[in-house]
Amino acid sequence: MPVPSSEPSAPYAPSGVPLPTRGWRFRRLANAVNLSTPLGLATARLGRAVPRRGPVGLWLAEGYRLGFPVASAFTVGNVVITAHRFDDLLTANPRLLLHEQRHSWQYVACGGLPMLPLYALAMGWSWLRTRDRWSANVFERRAGLADGGYRSPATD
Ligand SMILES: [Zn+2]
Repeated sequence: MPVPSSEPSAPYAPSGVPLPTRGWRFRRLANAVNLSTPLGLATARLGRAVPRRGPVGLWLAEGYRLGFPVASAFTVGNVVITAHRFDDLLTANPRLLLHEQRHSWQYVACGGLPMLPLYALAMGWSWLRTRDRWSANVFERRAGLADGGYRSPATD
C-alpha cells in the first residue's frame, strides 16, 4: 500500500519547523486510551471540521464552525482544531504546532479528560491575576506563550 503524504510519523510540520519525535507513539496511544483524542475527533466533527492525519500522531482539523472556544486553534488530546486553514495559520506562526503538540502532552500528563477542568481553573486563575486567559495560565506558559502566538504583557 502506498504511504500517504500525510504519513503520521512525519517529523516535520507543514511549515517545515521540526516537531519533537520523541515518544509520539506513546502519546498517541495514551491519548487514545484516556479518551481525549476520541473527544477531540468528536469535537471537530461536531463543529463540522474535517480531521486529517498530521505529523507525529497529531490530527489537524480545519473549518471548525462553532464559536467556542475562542482561540485561533485549540487542542483536545492529539487533535488540533481551528476555524481557519492550517496553511494560513502556519504561515502567520510557523511554530504553532510546537505549541499545540505540547498541549497534547499535557493531556497525557493529566490522564486525559481531567485536563479540561484543570485548564478552565488555570484560565480563571490567569484572568484574576492578569485580566487575560493566558499570561498566568500554567498550561499556556508551559506550552510556550510565544510559540502559541500569545504576547506577554511584560514584553508589550
Ligand atoms: Zn495554547
